[in-house]
Amino acid sequence: MEYVKVSEEYSGIAEKVIDEHEDLHWIRNLKVRIGYLASDREKKKDGGLVLGECIKVKPLYRPYVPHDFLIVIYETNTAGLTENQMEILMYHELLHIGIDEAGEELKYNINPHDVEDFRTVIDRYGIDWAKRGASKEKLSTGGENREKKQIQNACGSVPEGDRPDGSGRSN
Ligand SMILES: [Zn+2]
Repeated sequence: MEYVKVSEEYSGIAEKVIDEHEDLHWIRNLKVRIGYLASDREKKKDGGLVLGECIKVKPLYRPYVPHDFLIVIYETNTAGLTENQMEILMYHELLHIGIDEAGEELKYNINPHDVEDFRTVIDRYGIDWAKRGASKEKLSTGGENREKKQIQNACGSVPEGDRPDGSGRSN
């Protein structure tokens, strides 16, 4: 049976990452409620391993899930990542947290990747930050094409409207 559990550890990593990145301070200032989960699901996307994912909690679910977003780290897939890589992964997932500026009411959304990763992640940490030592043979196998898609695939976050089944769509 797969597990999904609340993770104090990832919550702690996120606090540290938010401290260290001014571009994330607004998340704290606005008191965005984020839940951190650890899953041992070996999640894959287009054949690559998904390391993490940021999900917006639908308003309908909020009475049961008192968070605005959930960040899931797939622990089986991140085995072998260094502490530093985990922090970059968390930074990446936190960058998905966005605000819909249209309208007067505060509405959150999932920021899409601006390149195949976030430019700010690549500028700071290099394009291959997820590869070095990550889940060893699993992440390092595959041709060049796969390498190019690796970072995008290593993150399961899907902006609303991009979900093929439209499941993220109803606000
Ligand atoms: Zn992502």
